[in-house]
Amino acid sequence: MASYFDEHDCEPSAPEREARTNILLEIARWVRGAGRWTPGELRSLFISVDFEDLGLGVDWDHHLPPPAAKTAVESLPRTVMRGCRSELKCPVCLLEFEEEETAIEMPCHHFFHSNCILPWLSKTNSCPLCRHELPTDDDTYEEHKRDKARKQQEKHRLESLHGAMYT
Ligand SMILES: [Zn+2]
Ligand SMILES: [Zn+2]
Repeated sequence: MASYFDEHDCEPSAPEREARTNILLEIARWVRGAGRWTPGELRSLFISVDFEDLGLGVDWDHHLPPPAAKTAVESLPRTVMRGCRSELKCPVCLLEFEEEETAIEMPCHHFFHSNCILPWLSKTNSCPLCRHELPTDDDTYEEHKRDKARKQQEKHRLESLHGAMYT
């Protein structure tokens, strides 16, 4: 029997490409046959699929990070602005804090009006001023962050190794 590639007179694809096509076919089958898969089958399918690799995953480097975790936002210290602190400006609205006004302090020690920072943190997890990140409830994003930190660490390790060898 002639293969698809003989009939269509094109180059056989690389094995990875074929695997990718198979996964896409699996997904297409799943979408068409929705409801006919058992939860176990679905789980193993999703585990075997690297969505990032397929281009279906979120490319966090080019997306706004997800909202800050509610618990992280709730535990941010509320500080009463007094003395020289009340001369600070809220970086969001650029207004000076009133004496005795309560501000939210981010872990990076930037102060904000709660009305200014809370809506922001419900959209994305980082300080508007310095991009210091709060934890999120988004597992894929947290995994991405860990992954990035690991890669960064590995890069530093290689760089210091390189430095040790060539200096
Ligand atoms: Zn403000
Ligand atoms: Zn900050």
